Amino acid sequence: EEPPAALAVPQAGQDGLMLLHRVGVVDPASLDDYRAHGGYTALRRAFELGPAGVIREVTDSGLAGRGGAAFPTGRKWQATASQPDHPHYLVCNADESEPGTFKDRVLMEGDPFALVEAMTIAAYATGAHQGHLYLRGEYPRALHRLEHAIAQARARGLLGDDILGQGYAFDIEIRRGAGAYICGEETALFNSIEGYRGEPRSKPPFPVEKGLFGKPTVENNVETLVNVLPILTMGAPAYAAIGTDRSTGPKLFCVSGSVERPGVYELPFGATLGDLLTLAGVREGLRAVLLGGAAGGFVRADELGVPLTFEGTREAGTTLGSGVVMAFDDSVPLPRLLLRIAEFFRDESCGQCVPCRVGTVRQEEALHRIVERTGADAAGDIALLREVGRAMRDASICGLGQTAWNAVESAIDRLGAYE
Ligand code: NAD
Ligand code: SF4
Repeated sequence: EEPPAALAVPQAGQDGLMLLHRVGVVDPASLDDYRAHGGYTALRRAFELGPAGVIREVTDSGLAGRGGAAFPTGRKWQATASQPDHPHYLVCNADESEPGTFKDRVLMEGDPFALVEAMTIAAYATGAHQGHLYLRGEYPRALHRLEHAIAQARARGLLGDDILGQGYAFDIEIRRGAGAYICGEETALFNSIEGYRGEPRSKPPFPVEKGLFGKPTVENNVETLVNVLPILTMGAPAYAAIGTDRSTGPKLFCVSGSVERPGVYELPFGATLGDLLTLAGVREGLRAVLLGGAAGGFVRADELGVPLTFEGTREAGTTLGSGVVMAFDDSVPLPRLLLRIAEFFRDESCGQCVPCRVGTVRQEEALHRIVERTGADAAGDIALLREVGRAMRDASICGLGQTAWNAVESAIDRLGAYE
């Protein structure tokens, strides 16, 4: 096991938390402790409501996917539940690999039974009897705790053939990733589980229709699933009243970089970036904040009023993504940072489609020339970057290629990175 300090949850034990309220408070190995802190009340409520009732609650709550794309969860569940083809599958995407993202890790390590309970509810609502939890291979402690939680739940009739005596059968199998960022893309993830190369499939068809093993599949991020617990216990109207009209509920933010207290923070949607950075103790000399990770965009130090909502960050020209908030001060050489991001995308491109396979290489080369001053003409390289970036965005099969130019573009346009 890694040292406990790896769990960076500065708000642990504070009142009012909805997603992190047990993290750092309960013993993650104890099902009894989980139950003593509200565990399994949401599943009981789910059985009272029935599958259609659960989907109605999730839809009315306004919950949108927390993996980064913010697709309405209720719509996804309804689309899968209504498919005539069987079996239906549930897949939990726990391959958290976006640089700067570590919120799912904190949930899985600190409150593993919550994910087991939430997966059971999602499967019940959508007619699945088998769940796959695809876990980032670099999370050994999460693996250990989830394996233990699943075994405990099975031993106590909370997974298996007859859950809580309701005649409903469901079980969970953990699959570990092997270090490829692309396997977090949902269809590459299905290929990986099926034993093929982790390469994205073309969408549509969407997984709700043809997903794992070609069957209707609900694929949700860890944080998305854990939100279902408060939705069912407090009811959709109370949940939907938190946040803004278009971004409801609480959100986890992964704060790193130039702050005094890096870690995972929970805030209701609608708090500003400045509020969050104040909580985390922003340091002197802040220059810019990268929102949404390597695929996201920068905001300047004079734009900290941007609301942390899906719509607010979009209007500010970036994205909330999976909740990455990386703060950079003047000491960080921006061109080198961008080169590092470009290296990452070149490294992680699966190579399946030309715009991304070639574009990520050309992007890295151009940035390298600019940083090392080996090119004849930096302005020409920036023009080339724009052209390559447009091609990647327009013609790549999946989100990796489509977003590989985002951070570089925003650094050029908003921060004047090479001026
Ligand atoms: P997407 O917009 O293609 O899809 C989002 C989800 O909605 C998918 O599950 C998709 O199947 C579903 N969907 C979309 N349209 C649908 C429809 N018409 N009917 C039914 N279902 C539909 O985005 P994506 O490529 O899955 O994800 C991109 C996001 O992933 C980015 O925003 C990025 O921030 C994020 N990301 C997160 C991590 C991480 O570690 N959490 C890593 C990399 C990328
Ligand atoms: Fe693979 Fe990149 Fe194409 Fe996605 S965009 S399928 S990662 S080559």
